[in-house]
Amino acid sequence: MRRWNGWGDEATAMNLPDNGLGFLKDRIGPGRLLRDITLEEAKAKVPASRLPVHPLIQTDAESRVRHARGQSLPDWLAMRSGEIGCFPDGVAQPQNSTEVRELLDFCQMHGVEVIPYGGGTSVAGHINPLVSDRPVLTLSLARMTTLLELDPVSQIATFGAGTPGPLVESQLRAKGFTLGHFPQSFELSTVGGWVASRSSGQQSLRYGRIEQLFAGGKVETLQGTLDLPTFPASSAGPDLREIILGSEGRLGVITEVKVRVSPLADKEAFYVVFLPNWEQARNAARALVQQRVPLSMLRLSNPVETETQLALAGHAGQIAILEKYLGWRGAEQGKCMMTLGVTGSKTQCRMAKQQAMSVLKDFGGVSTGTVLGSKWAQKRFLMPYLREALWSNGYAVDTLETATDWVNVDALMHRMEDTLRTRLAPFGDKAHVFTHLSHFYGQGCSIYTTYVFPNGKDYAETLRRWQVMKQTTSQAIVSHRGTISHQHGVGKDHAPYLPEEKGVLAMKTLGTLVQAYDPNGLLNPGTLLAQVETLGSEQKES
Ligand SMILES: Cc1cc2nc3c(=O)[nH]c(=O)nc-3n(C[C@H](O)[C@H](O)[C@H](O)COP(=O)(O)OP(=O)(O)OC[C@H]3O[C@@H](n4cnc5c(N)ncnc54)[C@H](O)[C@@H]3O)c2cc1C
Repeated sequence: MRRWNGWGDEATAMNLPDNGLGFLKDRIGPGRLLRDITLEEAKAKVPASRLPVHPLIQTDAESRVRHARGQSLPDWLAMRSGEIGCFPDGVAQPQNSTEVRELLDFCQMHGVEVIPYGGGTSVAGHINPLVSDRPVLTLSLARMTTLLELDPVSQIATFGAGTPGPLVESQLRAKGFTLGHFPQSFELSTVGGWVASRSSGQQSLRYGRIEQLFAGGKVETLQGTLDLPTFPASSAGPDLREIILGSEGRLGVITEVKVRVSPLADKEAFYVVFLPNWEQARNAARALVQQRVPLSMLRLSNPVETETQLALAGHAGQIAILEKYLGWRGAEQGKCMMTLGVTGSKTQCRMAKQQAMSVLKDFGGVSTGTVLGSKWAQKRFLMPYLREALWSNGYAVDTLETATDWVNVDALMHRMEDTLRTRLAPFGDKAHVFTHLSHFYGQGCSIYTTYVFPNGKDYAETLRRWQVMKQTTSQAIVSHRGTISHQHGVGKDHAPYLPEEKGVLAMKTLGTLVQAYDPNGLLNPGTLLAQVETLGSEQKES
């Protein structure tokens, strides 16, 4: 069964090895355990529902608790402390577009706010209800999980928007295809959620981000049904798929998603190569992508992340032997771990590997073959369970991510890390901060920074610690040429920073679009746009 207050399945766990815990204690001191409330205690906090009765809507306390929050750190703190604040007034799980339409008409008629809900894996407050005078319905797509159609000639698959990653892949694999979209939240996130929040998968180098995979589909809006037909390409004016990508539930409910799929590859392999220092490593990654070496995946850990990953890997004896070998080959203190993947026919994989290794050799790369790479592949969707292990040792963990041009990568990475490292000084504590680059482009790459810190003396202080780190670093990102999100979206947590990134006219353009589809502001208010400003209101004012 899915955990109600954390990540994933209750039966799955990932342990923190003893030497990993020791490594953290050495750097940031011991963790502080905080008591988690029980599901029964959380249910007791749910107020009476304000929704009119409807046969498709459940108003029981447990459904409302389970849909109240996503997966951000403040969401965790809320669910574990019991300071949940708002709950949806009810949850509906329609089975098809007709039922979605029926629910939207009902909400329109009764002035009910609607939060479209995919897998609830948002880490930016997307699906959290806000305090409102109007009742709030969470509309979950959890029952729309079927591969509805597959055109094997054009390689287009149509899915119910609530299909989660494992069901996308298993239904396609049975027919010899893959979507190739593997965000780390793959286990729970859904194809509709990926589109609505502009997601990026770990193998985006080969398959593309969701923007490239999303071919069309169907959206139920308060103004009617929006059909997005599929074309290989079109110059017939602006592409309306673009307004649905990243719409975060503000324009309508995506009910069907058409995606571009690929035949299953004959071979796939992941390799780990160590580079002697950051400068060589970053230049090597840039060379690989700018020379268009056909890799399917690339990830580069900076020295602190490399050290941390080796410490948390367990198997201390084997890691010591590896470190000795790397030192002998010139990758010592300050080394960086690069994980890369090749996917395709046997010939394509062989050639891609040869090209990559030849480039990496010029930068002092030391290959360790596929042993560590295969381990990464086996465990890649288990990593979110490490949050649970850290929490049970009294540590909180969160990530911040952005993307920027190559010329700015180092400066922005250092700024983010320095900001995070220094912010806990007034609390008398420190954060352990490390970064990897991933999702590489000719122009630049994403920067993904993780920070681990001891909980405060209570939940309120732990939340304050997070707020000060998140807010100052988010501001640093947008003030220094980074996007407020490369892949996690805007939600409510990043909405205050969007105007600085987009500018006044763009914000009004987005506001006008939202208002055209949803004049009464019923759909997921507060997400994406903290406040809706329109071009029309400016004209009226002047
Ligand atoms: C541990 C962890 C790892 C993660 N790793 C990645 C990663 O590698 N790459 C990445 O891109 N993201 C990642 N994320 C973030 C998150 O998984 C993505 O934003 C994901 O796309 C959200 O999908 P979801 O189905 O869970 O959507 P939800 O969280 O349910 O919703 C997200 C937003 O989309 C809207 N929405 C959802 N479904 C629909 C629909 N059918 N119609 C209209 N609007 C809809 C919601 O209203 C909301 O605004 C991670 C999150 C966690 C917790």
